[in-house]
Amino acid sequence: MHELIFNTKLCENCKTLDCIMKCQYIEMDLDEAGREHAKILRGEESRILKDCVTCYACEEYCPSRNHPFYLIVERQEQLGIHPVPKPIEKSQVIMMGPRGKIKQKELKAPVIDMCFFDIMKGGIRGKLFEGATTIGGSDVFCNLMFLHFARNSTIRERLPLIMDNIMKYYLEPAGVKEIICYHDECYGTYTSWAPAFGIDVPFRPVHLFDYIYHKLIDLKPDIKPLNVKAAYQRPCSNRLCPETDHFVDDIFNLIGVERPKRTYEYKNALCCGGIPEAAQRFDLVEEIQRKNVEDMKSTGAQYGVFNCPFCFWTLAEPVAKAGMIPIMMSDLCLMALGQ
Ligand code: SF4
Ligand code: SF4
Repeated sequence: MHELIFNTKLCENCKTLDCIMKCQYIEMDLDEAGREHAKILRGEESRILKDCVTCYACEEYCPSRNHPFYLIVERQEQLGIHPVPKPIEKSQVIMMGPRGKIKQKELKAPVIDMCFFDIMKGGIRGKLFEGATTIGGSDVFCNLMFLHFARNSTIRERLPLIMDNIMKYYLEPAGVKEIICYHDECYGTYTSWAPAFGIDVPFRPVHLFDYIYHKLIDLKPDIKPLNVKAAYQRPCSNRLCPETDHFVDDIFNLIGVERPKRTYEYKNALCCGGIPEAAQRFDLVEEIQRKNVEDMKSTGAQYGVFNCPFCFWTLAEPVAKAGMIPIMMSDLCLMALGQ
């Protein structure tokens, strides 16, 4: 069984405890954070394990990339702490499991891995995605969402099969070696979670924004700057691959979108509220969404831009009600290309 590669000594000598001190949802002073975090290291119950809203952000806050959130998930699971009510957890495990109905299909690069969001494949269109083919659905689903459900075990169990499916049914027959990850969650799985558990990834994952940025460079003569202001909703899973966050600014610059400064962005981004809703923490949902949307609005943004479909479905309505246009990043780029 693949175990989390975690350096306990690093934490024992850590003076700043950024993983807890920067958390936007748990308030503690440094002394308490030290005591509570030490309990997690020893495998004991801690307030952190119960209060965590599973926003993934401490994966980014730890300057040593020591995987504090993956450890939280390990401990929650070992100690039977369920961030989401058990009946919801149980039904999600069944619903999202691989069906074994995968069939070989003809593919050619670029191959866009839609994750579980096949429903969004209408967005894979136009000059940005010319010649692209897609894969998606339960048999290639990364299952990383089970981090929100204290179930590293489910990811561990399913991921090797999922990667085998991608290789055997799709990439090997087509002679393709890389996939473009439509969702940050897949990219985070292959570049952060899998290495953290010592699991090899047999293909090269590419972040969607990396792909879009380079495609826009090729298409530069076709770009008509949009000259609009936009706010960006950073998804929780981007915390697992913060090295890709700069692409938001890079893409906005290319397509003539101004990103006015807001409070809840970059490292200070707020969750969309979707997961606290599943966890039935409704007061928190209301507060998070209000703060988030008011913050977007206060910048004068005309657009609320998303990459994660789940964030989009959760926040599109409040964003629209506040007078902004919710839009996926790829669609915003297609607008700049006159499509
Ligand atoms: S996980 Fe990182 S930030 Fe947290 S105590 Fe350990 S070394 Fe420090
Ligand atoms: S995952 Fe988010 S809520 Fe949980 S401890 Fe880390 S930063 Fe705090």
